[in-house]
Amino acid sequence: MKKIILSLFLFVIVSPLFSQHKKFTRQDTLRGSITKERIWWDLKQYNLSIEVNPEAKFISGKNSIKYTVLDNYQIMQIDLQDPLIITKIIQDKSELTFKKDGYSYFINLQKEQLKGDENEITIYYEGKPKIAKRPPWDGGITWGKDINGLDFIATTCQGDGASIWWPCKDHMYDEPESMAINITTPSHLMDVSNGRLKKVTDNNNGTKTYHWFVNNPINNYGVNMNIGDYVHFSEKYEGENGLLDCDYYVLKDDLKKAKEHFKDVKKMLQAFEHWFGPYPFYNDGFKLVQVSYLGMEHQSSVTYGNQFKKGYLGRDLSGTGWGLKFDFIIIHESGHEWFANNITYKDMADMWIHECFTAYSENLFLDFHYGKQASSEYLIGTRQNIRNDRPIIGIYDVNHAGSGDMYSKGANMLHTLRQLLEDDEKWRSVLRGVNKEFYHQTVTTAQIENYLSKHTNIDLTAFFNQYLRDVRIPTLEYKIDEKQLQFRWTNIVDDFDMPVKVYFNSIEKWIFPNKEWKNLNIKTSISEFKIDANFYVKSKKVN
Ligand SMILES: [Zn+2]
Repeated sequence: MKKIILSLFLFVIVSPLFSQHKKFTRQDTLRGSITKERIWWDLKQYNLSIEVNPEAKFISGKNSIKYTVLDNYQIMQIDLQDPLIITKIIQDKSELTFKKDGYSYFINLQKEQLKGDENEITIYYEGKPKIAKRPPWDGGITWGKDINGLDFIATTCQGDGASIWWPCKDHMYDEPESMAINITTPSHLMDVSNGRLKKVTDNNNGTKTYHWFVNNPINNYGVNMNIGDYVHFSEKYEGENGLLDCDYYVLKDDLKKAKEHFKDVKKMLQAFEHWFGPYPFYNDGFKLVQVSYLGMEHQSSVTYGNQFKKGYLGRDLSGTGWGLKFDFIIIHESGHEWFANNITYKDMADMWIHECFTAYSENLFLDFHYGKQASSEYLIGTRQNIRNDRPIIGIYDVNHAGSGDMYSKGANMLHTLRQLLEDDEKWRSVLRGVNKEFYHQTVTTAQIENYLSKHTNIDLTAFFNQYLRDVRIPTLEYKIDEKQLQFRWTNIVDDFDMPVKVYFNSIEKWIFPNKEWKNLNIKTSISEFKIDANFYVKSKKVN
């Protein structure tokens, strides 16, 4: 029964973002590639202002975009998804013409765009944005109500893209260096967005504007607005880079529960700063914000809807019991501050960089607080969620993610790599190092692969080809003839020759298989043989 529930859970997680047989459209290319209308300009800052009218389920606003000209070009691509519409575009006080192609707007710039110039353009827009049907797995706005009948509104846009609710350069490769988010709501409600709350202005017309400012690069889907009848409490965490402000926003009625339950935040910070290095956004602080859906890794304002339960809505994804030692959403979504928000993929095909390391972070949380045995058991338990349906890496330039195996299989891949290193301190320095090397950057798979190969001193080319680009699980075929073991790898990509730790009659030994049969003679008869369970491989005895 448990297995059925878990595979259903995985289906729910993976189905919308990881559909199998997708036919790609021109829209996918416009959305997913670095077009010539995108590449010539570099984002400096977004200044987004939105007025939200919950009664009419209507929003209107503008986004002023500061950018640097990298190459002289006169057409700019900005994305905004129907049914929202762009009403006006202004640069240097003159109104510009544009051509709409699906969700992309191609703007004819009048001012000559000269390399090195810093320019600004303002996009005005409005409409009734798409309503999210199953957030966070599809994007749009959730116009919810709390138990007191008050509006409880949230945005989600991973996968679909931020242009589902605001106009932007909707591709992950380019991030602004900072962002202002100004949200106008009915006066009795509050907006919580990313970064720091700079001020609240009363517009004396029944509305208030909440001015938030993000002092760091931020990816598109990490931006969010959450509107509700929030109350606030806070604490400070003494971390590696000094005092970190931790701010919590929850519905009034849940305050007591939240004060107890959010104690997992400090434990999370302890574990992740130890393994990954300093929290990457000290100057923006850390926030946990209650929402009506399950949760999402919005940068410096992680959203939370796990119903104040341990595990994943009270369930243990590993089936071992260890998954009930922590709140899955607090730990997993906050893990993304390092892998997704600090280090961000350029192309959605490389989404494993976010999910594989973050799924792995769950086990490092357990490792820090409950020890190595607990973390191994948890991770091995999550193998029941692996499907090996298609590769973890998706298709490039069309906004396409690979298999949902990027979670549990990805985490088990990293756990296997940790075994190969046989040096936990070195492994920790690699994980901290990758966060330092690619601090606040967008990256490719090649950059991460090369970094890991270089800093583990292991050529991991075949290893990553096997686990990221192939669906087969390496299988150790072996024959035992009294004191002799014969073994080889099958189900492998070219050049896969990963060493593996095995036990003969409970004695530990490393063997070095490749695709050819090898022999090993030992002193006593082999009565028992097994592979160390920490390796994500299979074994098969043959005659
Ligand atoms: Zn995740």
